[in-house]
Amino acid sequence: MNRSRSEQAGAAIAKPTGSRTVEGHCGLCSSACAVHIHLEGERLRRVTPRPGHPYGATCRRSTRAADIVYASQRLLYPQAAFGPRGRREFRRIGWEEALDSTAEALRGIAEEYGPEAVCIYTGQGTFEQSLWQMLSPAGVPETSAWNLLFPFGSPNTTGAGSNCYAAQGVIAPALNSGVWKIDTVPDIEHSDLIVVWGTNPASGSPPRHMTAIKRACDRGARALVIDHRRTETVRIAGGRWLAIRPGTDGALALAMIHVVIEEQLYDRHFVARWTAGFEELKSYAAGFSPEQAESITGIPAEQIRRAARDIARARGACFLYDTGLEYTNSGVQNIRAVMTLEAITGNYDVPGGTLINIPPWGFWVNRSRRLSPPTGKIPIGADRYPLYTLFRREAQAMELPRAILEGKPYPIRALLIIGASILTAYPDPELWRRSLEKLEFMMVVDRFPTEEALYADIVLPAATAFEHDGYVVKGRRISLRRQVIEPPGEARCDWDIAIALANKLGYGHLYPRSIEEMVEWAFEGTGVDLAELREKPEGIELPAPPMKYRKWELGLLRPDGKPGFDTPTGKYEITSTVLERYGYDPLPVFSFPLEGPLGSPELLQRYPLVFNSGSRNKAFFNSQYHHIPSLVRRYPRPLVWIHPEDAAPRRIAEGDRVVVKTRRGEVFYTAHVTEDIVPGVVEADAHGGGLIAAPAWRECNANELTDFENRDPISGFPVYKALLCQVSKADPYGSAGSADARVPETRETPSKDRL
Ligand code: SF4
Repeated sequence: MNRSRSEQAGAAIAKPTGSRTVEGHCGLCSSACAVHIHLEGERLRRVTPRPGHPYGATCRRSTRAADIVYASQRLLYPQAAFGPRGRREFRRIGWEEALDSTAEALRGIAEEYGPEAVCIYTGQGTFEQSLWQMLSPAGVPETSAWNLLFPFGSPNTTGAGSNCYAAQGVIAPALNSGVWKIDTVPDIEHSDLIVVWGTNPASGSPPRHMTAIKRACDRGARALVIDHRRTETVRIAGGRWLAIRPGTDGALALAMIHVVIEEQLYDRHFVARWTAGFEELKSYAAGFSPEQAESITGIPAEQIRRAARDIARARGACFLYDTGLEYTNSGVQNIRAVMTLEAITGNYDVPGGTLINIPPWGFWVNRSRRLSPPTGKIPIGADRYPLYTLFRREAQAMELPRAILEGKPYPIRALLIIGASILTAYPDPELWRRSLEKLEFMMVVDRFPTEEALYADIVLPAATAFEHDGYVVKGRRISLRRQVIEPPGEARCDWDIAIALANKLGYGHLYPRSIEEMVEWAFEGTGVDLAELREKPEGIELPAPPMKYRKWELGLLRPDGKPGFDTPTGKYEITSTVLERYGYDPLPVFSFPLEGPLGSPELLQRYPLVFNSGSRNKAFFNSQYHHIPSLVRRYPRPLVWIHPEDAAPRRIAEGDRVVVKTRRGEVFYTAHVTEDIVPGVVEADAHGGGLIAAPAWRECNANELTDFENRDPISGFPVYKALLCQVSKADPYGSAGSADARVPETRETPSKDRL
């Protein structure tokens, strides 16, 4: 093995016989925590947090890093597939043959259907930050979707943003203020009140916000947690829990807005000078009295009043919300309502609130080399979800089945899937299987076999982030990621694969020729001294001037340097001109869940419980690592949380095998009977269903229960939360059988052996 670059650079900090420790970054999720990597000969043994480093951390996954990188299921060689899609057989081939045949297939499809018939989907399996910064479409601050097919002539790049993050991280904030979430940071340290809304920082990767919240609460800050579960966050922070009925967050936000307007608690100067649409909001919110909201949200009116007053009177209230608010029928509008509450109570870009963290306080890599989509070609999904495409410059993947199966708005015939598991991530896996079956060409790039590989023509092995170089930017802390171990077999890093494919397609000159060159491009013109960076494995902290607040007053947000927001009116748009232009309601309106106790009373007779899915647990990362025995041991079975009031009449006890049914399907779970969930609501573990997952997880795909057509009309996101279901006790050895009894041991799965 060649010596890793970190060792060549002298980064080794201890050298006991046969073993050494290098400073590096964890490569098992996108957080890239700063760690010490302990090596024995050529092998990674374990990782530990880098002491004293501001981003030093480990978690349950990283304590099992060696089990993951050396797992027997790693893909090792390029493979060509034959036989029926869905039941492929594989034969080992060389990289040249794999890339040549991919390029040839893509050209053939472009000739017959046009280049737009080729689509690339990139997921969360690629953890190198530069991939989603340097390969973003031009004009888009950050997305997981790559611009790799733009020079080929296809606008159809898409990825995990189609069902995660973009609604709350991009669309809602872009509409309200023109500032993306990536350019903001919660000022927990100086906050008086931390509002944790529909997210659980205690299960964060890593739980950095939780640590900050705990510290803030220890010095006297208060925490208000709005969730349908009493999460660990409530307990750790000693916070107040507002137990909300799922899917009603918009109604709660509007009720709080109602209170702050009625009681004249809002920031009058901000509202008068910097907002558009306040009077319309006032009229609309008048219909959401706390008493009315109580009947919608299940939260007592007095608690709503108290929370609204606390937020308005806080000396800096910062709001933490995440994907939890995205997955309802009015996801984008609910988030806009929450953001509006934050803004009109004077908590936006103030000490202790949500800070706008653009340079020179934040840091942007050089964005000038990103490529634009081909002109005159509309990506799929833009006809139904134009705002998703407007802000992201990419296709909305929820429309892929329509394009593949029905040719609408035009056919997609080839799909490249990079580090993603669509079949576990999106509703209606059977529809997706039918779609993948219909493709004429499919390539999968991953570290471990996914079910998608069984539909592919070419499968390529990718390296983990321990096995390649790159960079890590966190705030104004910049570091290089260094390769510390060799990739197994012939696995290559995602960058190498992307560059090699661009070369085969004849436009490699538009991309960096190597990762080294990519790093040079990334920091070109940013003031970062690469030579210094190479010398400092701990990274460099770029100095920042003292923070300036209310940046709209200072002309710091608009490209023309004038005061105001970077929105069409220059105001904080409570009524969005963009929404209006595209035919949506410009106000942050609330819609009842289409499938909910109030929205579909007839269905409620058969499915009387509100179904939620999507929360994360600490052992896995979405659908990843369900095949690692040491992690599965810590979380052996997918759980469904159910309140004792709902469990008792169903004779369900803790640990019972139960079946969760919706009108779309049924899935077996293990019951977790707990008072930490709102009565009438269940929370089912998601992300199961992976090809090589341990049996209990493999047999439990929550998306058999969710609804492909039930979506947020603005983002196109599926409604993973706020559906209806029934839960009943299952025969532990019934017809559907014990999942464990029906599926061979993970490490011996026939599907894996074929790969
Ligand atoms: S959160 Fe855990 S898995 Fe993710 S980078 Fe940090 S240590 Fe690694």
